[in-house]
Amino acid sequence: MPNVTETYELVVGLGACGLSMARFLKSRGHCVAATDIDGTKTSQAEALKKLGIPVRIGSHGQNMFDKASVIIPSPGVPLDMPFIKAARAKGVPVSGELDIFAQYNTTPVIAITGTNGKTTTTELVAAMLEASGLSCFVGGNIGTPLVEYLMQESPKDIVVAEISSFQLDLADMFRPDVAVLLNIAPDHLDRYPDFDAYANSKWSVFKNMTALDTAVINAALNNFSARTENICPGTFGFSSTGPVTRGASIHKMGIDIRTEKINDAISPETLTGLPGMHNRENVAAAALAALSGGASMAGIRQALNSFTLSDHRIAFVREVDGIRFYNDSKATNVDAVLAALKSFESRVVLILGGREKGLDFAPLVPEVKARVKAVIGMGEAAGHIMEIFEGVCPAYPCPDMACAVNKAVCLSEKGDVVLLSPACASFDLYANYKERGKDFSRMVNDIVPGQEGCHG
Ligand code: ADP
Repeated sequence: MPNVTETYELVVGLGACGLSMARFLKSRGHCVAATDIDGTKTSQAEALKKLGIPVRIGSHGQNMFDKASVIIPSPGVPLDMPFIKAARAKGVPVSGELDIFAQYNTTPVIAITGTNGKTTTTELVAAMLEASGLSCFVGGNIGTPLVEYLMQESPKDIVVAEISSFQLDLADMFRPDVAVLLNIAPDHLDRYPDFDAYANSKWSVFKNMTALDTAVINAALNNFSARTENICPGTFGFSSTGPVTRGASIHKMGIDIRTEKINDAISPETLTGLPGMHNRENVAAAALAALSGGASMAGIRQALNSFTLSDHRIAFVREVDGIRFYNDSKATNVDAVLAALKSFESRVVLILGGREKGLDFAPLVPEVKARVKAVIGMGEAAGHIMEIFEGVCPAYPCPDMACAVNKAVCLSEKGDVVLLSPACASFDLYANYKERGKDFSRMVNDIVPGQEGCHG
């Protein structure tokens, strides 16, 4: 860390968000410094140093935080880190990407949050708007940091932003024009004191919205009526468990959409690329948000006809000897696994496991009893998974993916589904969920057809 005497805005974390944030602030003439505890971030540090930004990696150092006029942690940085806690106690403001974006952005924003379905719904909203002739910037938690939009030359009609609870935890003034809350189920309980704290974080997406704005909310959520009373009046509901008067009602025959201007339906034929009731919820929410952003029903239908789900989300890998293999590596919590299990009529051999996030696996038991032939518990969570499922169905521990795939092959027979849907993070064995999903798919693609019996 070079000797810096003046104060600066301190970016903490040099992942994609931190790098973009440091570059953006520098481009707007701010005095910026950056730090990351990870000493391997040398290329990122060099890139920022070339822009004249002082950087310290490998450790943080109190003196770095002492000179910070504001601290901007990346979403993955724990806010209870001692340096951040101490700075807060001294009155140093701690800000996040959403507020900095809000200070500079002038384009209408559609924000999508929820425990599951954010990426799918964000992609759906963008596809629906684009098919209706509107240009979009898609960013946020989905990959491209939002401040990247502020560094682009040509403005778009709408920003479609996937928003995580970690981002919302540092948002004081972010006020989307349209905000979607898809669902709230236990997740990230290793970061929040309890489920209520996590739920409050999700609901906070609406806190600055006014009568000019539109909320799109899952009407089956706990306390929907009480919570929505305090939100902007322009609230649309959507539900797969009962009819909704203003918004979207989801049922076997499709999705009915009722607003002041629209009385229309999306047919099941239009939804064949989006299996499962959970994806109908995503479509309903996306359609209401896209309509609020200026999309047409014709554009929405056109987008749905050509939409394909991103990889690692109940993605079909291969059929071998009548057994179908699906990769749902992105299912990193219990609710996503429930959604996946409910999408299949067949008997399922289920591969769970990975690094735990403080989640209770017990809510899976009824669905496992109803349609799971065997559970395989993989990686760090294997022991806990055995405790929950032994006695419910055949359950086997496996240290790694090779063992899990091998075991799944030997437990399944023609007509069955083998589903990797882990309910856990991947970091015990992999860099991320994508690597886990790719490893599963590679091993499934290596299975030699016609080989009977178990191998180990
Ligand atoms: P997110 O960005 O919130 O993680 P994704 O669209 O990437 O959401 O999907 C993550 C996982 O959640 C996948 O396993 C997917 O099948 C599942 N999923 C998607 N939408 C829903 C939903 N509405 N309810 C429950 N699970 C869902």
